[in-house]
Amino acid sequence: MTLKKVSTTSECPVAPEQVSRRRFLSLAGTGIIAGTLAQVRRAEAKTSQSAAQYQDTPNGDKNCAGCKLFLADGNTCRIVEGEISPNGYCRFWVRS
Ligand code: SF4
Repeated sequence: MTLKKVSTTSECPVAPEQVSRRRFLSLAGTGIIAGTLAQVRRAEAKTSQSAAQYQDTPNGDKNCAGCKLFLADGNTCRIVEGEISPNGYCRFWVRS
């Protein structure tokens, strides 16, 4: 591997690849990248309604409106795909 010198100062005589890596590791250390990647993973990792055994009706006194994972502002769920009814229920229900 050949390294290109990008700076003539003695403080930062590193190749662009190393700067990018340093910057990346710096950001990773602050949690910015980790947080962003976690958000992307969360957005992509939702479970299908069928896999969650989602139903549009409550299970006794358990419903999505009373679940910690329900997002009422858009009738969605943090972990189950699609539109979610406040009166729905699935096997991942968590009391809020
Ligand atoms: S019961 Fe909870 S986890 Fe299941 S779909 Fe409703 S809000 Fe999501």
